[in-house]
Amino acid sequence: MLIRERLVEGVNKGITSQHGLIAHGRGEAFDYLIGERTRDFAEITIRAAVAMMFRADRPVISVNGNAAALVPGDLVRLSEVTGAPLEINLFHHSRERIAAIAAHLREFGAVDVLEPTADAVIVSLSSDRRYVNPDGIARADVVFVPLEDGDRCGALRAAGKSVITVDLNPMSRTSRDASITIVDNVVRAVPRMIARVAELGGALDEATLRRDIDSYAHDSILVKAEHAIRSGAS
Ligand code: ATP
Repeated sequence: MLIRERLVEGVNKGITSQHGLIAHGRGEAFDYLIGERTRDFAEITIRAAVAMMFRADRPVISVNGNAAALVPGDLVRLSEVTGAPLEINLFHHSRERIAAIAAHLREFGAVDVLEPTADAVIVSLSSDRRYVNPDGIARADVVFVPLEDGDRCGALRAAGKSVITVDLNPMSRTSRDASITIVDNVVRAVPRMIARVAELGGALDEATLRRDIDSYAHDSILVKAEHAIRSGAS
């Protein structure tokens, strides 16, 4: 209920689109089915996701209206502990909403927030959705993009980037097309990623990061998540 309130507040503040409410409703249904907790298959994935962000040369955290409403402080903190800049990227693009999200993230401590510009585009996307920041997603090798849609996830992959997503539906196109898919609620997954960074401490050696990435098998994680949903096993 509190989570839902954050989104309604997000709509009232011009951060979240009305379409975002519908997407959230879909997420709530899946969350109910996975037992509203971080499952083993998500735990393994969170480790791999953090390792991939640390091994990246130019990781970026892509923020949309739902993520900004639900976990603004956690995204700012994740950016601080991983060194990955925050970049606003919207499905339903508007200058007003970008400004509102940037202001919201700054309220939660963000110093620099990258915004889409007309100077760089993801070529396989049409209209306003194609614009990205030349110093952010345009040059990124790894993009952490919680709550992405299938078209853009596919386009980022086609542009040669690794994509880490958070999606409660393991059957969505985003879940399937991403490099790493955390099947969990973003309100649990992002804090857990920050906790994982703390657990690693300074031990960011190549062997540990490699092991965490190698422990993640994309297809079998999605099968496990789907099985958990269909069987009701908790
Ligand atoms: P795709 O385009 O990837 O096939 P879709 O059309 O369902 O999927 P969207 O409309 O962007 O894509 O839906 C958003 C996705 O985000 C849904 O799969 C939904 O389950 C998921 N989702 C919504 N809220 C959350 C949340 N709080 N945490 C994690 N996932 C969420």
